[in-house]
Amino acid sequence: MNATESGNDRPESVTDGFHLVVDALKLNDIDVIYGVVGIPVTDLARLAQASGIRYIGFRHESAAGHAAAAAGFLTGRPGVCLTVSGPGFLNGMVALANATVNCFPMVHIAGSSDRALVDLQRGDYEELDQLAAARPFAKAAYRIDRIEDIGRGIARAIRTAVSGRPGGVYLDIPAHVLSQSMGAAAGAATVWRVVDPAPRQSPSDAAVSAALRLLGAAERPLIVLGKGAAYARAEHQIRDFVEQTGIPYLPMAMAKGLLPDDHPQCLAAARSLALSRADVVLLVGARLNWLLGHGASPQWSASAQFIQIDVDAAEFDSNQPTAVPLAGDICSTVEALSAGLHEVPVHCPTGWREELDARRTRNAAALEHRLAEDPRPMRFYSALRAVRAVVRRHPEVYLVNEGANTLDITRNVIEMQLPRHRLDCGTWGVMGVGLGYAIAAAVQSGRPVIAIEGDSAFGFSGMEMETICRYRLPVVVVVFNNGGVYRGDEVASTGTDPAPTVLSPGAHHERIIEAFGGTGHHVRTPDELTAALTAALADPGPVLIDCELDTSAGTESGHLTNLNPRVTVPVRTTTA
Ligand code: ADP
Ligand code: MG
Repeated sequence: MNATESGNDRPESVTDGFHLVVDALKLNDIDVIYGVVGIPVTDLARLAQASGIRYIGFRHESAAGHAAAAAGFLTGRPGVCLTVSGPGFLNGMVALANATVNCFPMVHIAGSSDRALVDLQRGDYEELDQLAAARPFAKAAYRIDRIEDIGRGIARAIRTAVSGRPGGVYLDIPAHVLSQSMGAAAGAATVWRVVDPAPRQSPSDAAVSAALRLLGAAERPLIVLGKGAAYARAEHQIRDFVEQTGIPYLPMAMAKGLLPDDHPQCLAAARSLALSRADVVLLVGARLNWLLGHGASPQWSASAQFIQIDVDAAEFDSNQPTAVPLAGDICSTVEALSAGLHEVPVHCPTGWREELDARRTRNAAALEHRLAEDPRPMRFYSALRAVRAVVRRHPEVYLVNEGANTLDITRNVIEMQLPRHRLDCGTWGVMGVGLGYAIAAAVQSGRPVIAIEGDSAFGFSGMEMETICRYRLPVVVVVFNNGGVYRGDEVASTGTDPAPTVLSPGAHHERIIEAFGGTGHHVRTPDELTAALTAALADPGPVLIDCELDTSAGTESGHLTNLNPRVTVPVRTTTA
């Protein structure tokens, strides 16, 4: 567009696609972008930074995407990930899919090549039909083809990411759109602020009454809190309902801390009994997927009835009949349930509480016994005893957790006191989220983060230690180093190569952070671990503590051995 106005020689003020993208993001309160720069988005990152948006540059798009997803979970606003075209875009797809599966709002913006070249497969730089590629992995995928649509495209991406069931949105912006220009005043009129991005939704009064009647008639009621409840920021409403009714509750992993884990009605330590005996179950932002045994026997009683609160009505009946579907957002729905208690009182039978309390006390004692053991070399439980003691003194820290045994055992041992302070492998049990999640937690909160990482899990995004050091983030990475995937002591049945599960027993991961100016520790005992972690939290900054564990510590597939098929016919070894 011509930069001079006709009739006089004063230059007309112009804008371009880069500026309009930044203007639209800022207008919608996007204050951080997680990304990796390159063609064609480098200037977009520069401009965003110059405009006051914080830009956090990663070493791999996957970690940047995971950070954006975690930011979405933590803030309730879409986290934004920025990548280049082609391979950079594809590297971000695991994170986009993982965000969608976990119902975290994020927007992945990628630059892309000229449609005229891509669509005829003429061999452009990083040529890829990104819009089509992203679609199966995202809640929605949109492309902006004209500069006039930038404001609309960003509004649409934000609205889709956070409304209804949150998820990942892909937003494709071809390079030529970024560099297109138009009059500044006309451009300003094309961007807008999304009003009430996730409007509240309430279930009908009839559904609320039906839910209360069923719960009120239950002999063994149970509430299951999922990460949807954490995301919904429903802790006050949920505490009110839980305490008014006296019904015991079970937090899913990322719902830990929604109410403090030491709440008298928290049954995390009597999970199996609670699931197998409950007759009426209220699911609050938790899906009856594999993590809950699909709601089926033998984990659950075959006659259990399910009441479910979910913002996405298509979730109901996905595994078991939903006796009472409560379609609505969790805050509004739980408020309505509490309000309805005046007319339909619900009180948990005391016999059921006592049965669960007895099991919880027994299981808790068994855990303490296990934690008190002091084997040398150190194993998972003794290391976690040390971590637990420090975390108890610092309930405000964010806890990131990934691995197999590292995940399963940490989840059981480390109590959470505050909502949305635990981030882990989530619905997919995905590996590689750890450092991205830790970076986002530190950036969004400004508070210290402890990432407890299996040594294998750490490897998926280990280079992000440099990112943590470059931005001087208060992140302490604790590597549970047993030298392998699951464990590090397997001997290959043949040949000289290491066994498939073996990594590098005796590795010194702390040297990785030292390369970037952070503080490294290598510890061999719980006391050394306590000392290193205490020092790290006293002066928050980038720290990596490599915990040398017994290579024989760990179970194949952690707590998921039932999902791991094993060979039934003896293994053939090649003979010369
Ligand atoms: P968990 O793994 O902890 O059991 P899930 O991810 O399986 O949790 O379930 C979360 C559920 O919460 C999803 O079905 C999602 O649709 C729902 N959800 C997310 N946000 C809200 C909200 N604000 N109100 C109601 N339901 C929500
Ligand atoms: Mg390991």
